[in-house]
Amino acid sequence: MQAPTRPIVDIRGLTKTYDNGPTALEPLDLRIDKGEILALLGPNGAGKTTLISMLCGLVSPSGGTATVSGHDIIADYRAARHLIGLVPQEISLEPFTRVWDSVSFTRGLFGLKRDDAKLDEILRRLSLWDKRRARINELSGGMKRRVLIAKALAHDPKVLFLDEPTAGVDVELRRDMWEIVADLKKSGVTIILTTHYIEEAEAIADRIGVINKGRLLLVEEKHALISRMGRKELRIALRAPCAAVPETLAEYDLERSADGMTLTYHYDTRRESTGITRLLQDIASAGLLLADLETRQSSLEEIFVDLVRDGQKEDAA
Ligand code: ADP
Repeated sequence: MQAPTRPIVDIRGLTKTYDNGPTALEPLDLRIDKGEILALLGPNGAGKTTLISMLCGLVSPSGGTATVSGHDIIADYRAARHLIGLVPQEISLEPFTRVWDSVSFTRGLFGLKRDDAKLDEILRRLSLWDKRRARINELSGGMKRRVLIAKALAHDPKVLFLDEPTAGVDVELRRDMWEIVADLKKSGVTIILTTHYIEEAEAIADRIGVINKGRLLLVEEKHALISRMGRKELRIALRAPCAAVPETLAEYDLERSADGMTLTYHYDTRRESTGITRLLQDIASAGLLLADLETRQSSLEEIFVDLVRDGQKEDAA
């Protein structure tokens, strides 16, 4: 039997209430394994930035503990911080500094010796090598984002936090960012990113945590989440249009398309019986002829919208 591995980030009961503010984060437990990509998904104001700011030592927790590679983020702050890289949401760069100097400076902040070979490697990895002598204010928005990542990697962190890495960027740059994240994972870096783009979590994460109103609603492996929470739909294409859904099929709650050529049946994959066999028999008995059948899994987007809406219903109750 394999010995259980210790999580690289171990969060226990971490909570934050800002002065004169709401509880931004209710006590949260989360363990993150080395080398995984975890996406924290949630709407604006959910508490995502608060969580990663606490882990990076920028916001002090109101309670609970967290460790990075066994180092407590408060008692052993320096050691924990050394292992962490943070790519902030806002572009915060010195406009007249040259790319090389900016990244080199960050390395120095961590008390590390100058290492030109290391810097070369980081700049090349982020396609910034050609721009190493450019001043920050000469760079496009996309290049500036790359510089932020290069700075976060300058001290060779083991855990990288990316706060909304693609908020407000165009589609092409978003895809570039996803590739960069995938490359970093390959090199063994553990990545925790926050996003409110479901598509982003779906595209790159190994595990997804959903946060809403300061509460971590769930954390689950992406594919398991999609198949566990997922509903499916069966689209039934007919050979001839039906003017209305026959009375005998009322119990199935079928959706009829505007042209009457398709009926859609929604079912829950978690139920013991999907009801499909009986539905198809009943359709035949109603005299409708089938042209084709197609099933579709509900997407993460639909799951997420349901989760957040259920949370709101609970609050209202
Ligand atoms: P997210 O990153 O998911 O958008 P945040 O962590 O920024 O969410 O915010 C969570 C909640 O905490 C929000 O209600 C926000 O208004 C509040 N909040 C965030 N930062 C502060 C602060 N410095 N002072 C007071 N309240 C804050």
